[in-house]
Parts: sequence; C-alpha cells; structure tokens
Amino acid sequence: MIDFQETIEAIYYELKQSQNKGVVASYIPELSKQNKNSFGIHIQHIDGRTFQIGDWNVPFSIQSISKVLALSKAIAFEDNRIWDRMDVEPSGNPFNHLSLLELEAGIPRNPLINAGAIVVADILVTHLKHPKTDFLNYVRIITNDNSINYNVDVAASEKRTGFKNYAAANLLKSFGNLNNDIEVVLDFYFHQCALEMTCSQLSKAFFLFANKGKCINNVQHISSSHTKRINAIMLTCGFYDEAGEFAFEVGLPGKSGVGGGIVALLPNDFVISTWAPGLNPKGNSLLGMQALEYFTTKTGRSIF
Ligand code: GLN
Repeated sequence: MIDFQETIEAIYYELKQSQNKGVVASYIPELSKQNKNSFGIHIQHIDGRTFQIGDWNVPFSIQSISKVLALSKAIAFEDNRIWDRMDVEPSGNPFNHLSLLELEAGIPRNPLINAGAIVVADILVTHLKHPKTDFLNYVRIITNDNSINYNVDVAASEKRTGFKNYAAANLLKSFGNLNNDIEVVLDFYFHQCALEMTCSQLSKAFFLFANKGKCINNVQHISSSHTKRINAIMLTCGFYDEAGEFAFEVGLPGKSGVGGGIVALLPNDFVISTWAPGLNPKGNSLLGMQALEYFTTKTGRSIF
C-alpha cells in the first residue's frame, strides 16, 4: 500500500531546496505580491482521507483553474449545445493567444483558453440571475465551504491590465459569439479568475470530477458523461501549450492557473492540488509540475 503522506512529504522537502523556483506572474500586478517560497500540496482521496503538507491551507488566486468550474456550470445549463460555440481541440498556443480566434471565425479552440472561457462566462451571465453571487454560491456548494470568496483587488488589477482579454472579447463579439455586453462578461470573468481558494478547498471542489459528477456531499451536479468529457478536456487542454508535456510527465487530467495553482485528479481515486507561485516560461507552476511528476512516478498512479 502506497503511503501518500510519506510520498508528498518526501517530494515537498526535496523541492523546497530547489534553486530555480520559477517566476511569479506580474502581468496582473496584484499577483506579483505573491511569495515565491510558498509551497503546498493537498490530496483528497475519494474515500474521505486527506493528506497535506506545507502551505496547503493558505488561500491563493486560482485564476484559470476557475475555467473548469465555470465550464461545469455552463454545461449544466446548456448541455451539448455549448459545443456549437467552441471546440474541444488543444490550441498549442499560449492561453491568451488571439490569431487562431480570428482565423477560426470567432470559435475558440477550447473552453480552457481565455477566449473559450470568455464564451463560457457569457453563457453564465445569460443564465444566472446574479452571475457573480450565484457562481460563488455554486463553488461554495460543491466545495462544502462558505468561506470561499473573490479577491476584489485581484479582479480590479486584472481589469486595469486586461487588454488582451478585452481584445478577445471584442473579436468574439465581432463574430457574433458573445451575446452580452463586453463589460459585463469581462467583469464576471475577472472575478471568476480572482476566486481565492486553498489547496484543500481546490481538492474538494474538484472532487466531483473524480466522482462521476457527484460533489463531496454526494450530490450529482453534472452527469457522468459530461464529467468524462470535462476530464478529457482537462487532459488535452488544461495546460495551454504544455498540455502534451503534462500528459507525458504526469498523466492526469488537470488544470493550472497563473496564481501558481495546479489541480489534477485520477477518476474514482483522488484529487491532488499544489500551489507554488513561481511559474515556468509557459505560465505553469514550476514546482507544481515537478511535484506532480514525482508523485505519479513514485506512486504509479496515473490514467496510463
Ligand atoms: N485571469 C488570467 C487571464 O485571463 C488567467 C490566466 C491563467 O491563469 N492562465 O489572463
């Protein structure tokens, strides 16, 4: 029997010594205040056990990880109609890349790059009566934790510097793939990205993707068929132009964010979250990627 606690402790203490901890994101000014030495790992096993080490209980900006949660809510509203407005192919490009969007007539490559996530935000703005409050409540419910909140300073900071996201939203609008007002959709999107969660809360929020759509409280939020598809999208598109590398090194569906978080899961087994704010050149947490690679290699637990 593999000792998860012993394994993550060994990984944590080894990586803590790393000389190269990557570079903290600064294009959203508020994120540059993060400490590069923060590092946490948390595992939520499907049987209820948890394992944790380091800064697993410190809230951080989940950024693009929120795109998976937003997608799950949008799918619950629109079912497979959602795929008329975006594709499910890896982009092979950075998360905020725009030229493909223009070439492909306003149909984003997938829901986990910014353009796709902005379409998902548009869908949620259409369906939710109070989009920001209702989405926050959804995240609190699936995580079983009412203390989760938006960091409004991060949302405002991103809005001030979100020129590429404005460009993406304008392109989408010009192709008729955005129904609501650009300001309203982006305000929702910036807040969604500015959700603050701990590694432990993230592991719990993503429990439903490891549990055929049932959250940690055993309530079905999405069908097992949609869960399968969301996991497939995480595997192929969850790490931007490093999705292939993550599948190759780690072998789990997962999602990263520029706040330094990564969450990954093995269906019917466990969810693992890491947080280390220093990023590699592709915008994924450097230590987080290494920790997950060591973890699946040492334990032999991956989908392959
Ligand atoms: N909020 C960020 C942005 O839109 C999310 C990017 C990310 O985490 N990769 O640029």
